[in-house]
Amino acid sequence: MPDPNCYSTKHAPHIPKLLFKLFPHLSTHRCDNDKGFTFRQECRSTEIPHLFEHLIIELQGQVLGSGVLRGETQWNWRVDPKGRFHVYVEYTNELLVLGAIRVAERIIQALDSHQIDQIHVEEEIQKLRLIASAGEQIKQTGQIIREPIRQTARA
Ligand SMILES: [Zn+2]
Repeated sequence: MPDPNCYSTKHAPHIPKLLFKLFPHLSTHRCDNDKGFTFRQECRSTEIPHLFEHLIIELQGQVLGSGVLRGETQWNWRVDPKGRFHVYVEYTNELLVLGAIRVAERIIQALDSHQIDQIHVEEEIQKLRLIASAGEQIKQTGQIIREPIRQTARA
């Protein structure tokens, strides 16, 4: 049986620490928790999927330039296998949220193994902007209009 503590930031304090370093705006997130903690306080001892939830919301917010989306993390191990979490996040752009989930997954994994230098937030946001505009096109026209790929130089 897996150790239930292994899902908590209590045993991996480097993850929220590095996450707030990459995404300082996370400290302004509203978070409904039993103790009335701010999100930053809550992060000292919370489930890692809860960080994942806030990160997906944050990535979408940075691309959309707004912060109105909500999320929720639930679990019930009397019904589900121990260790299964259900993370719900709102979205307005289907492709963007899928991209944000993948990026968030990669970020949490990199931070877990102390590889913060592998994460380039601006590049990730830039890629998500492209994904979001494809998502907007699909919403409006039902298809992606192909444009010649413009190569951008990386410094
Ligand atoms: Zn929260």
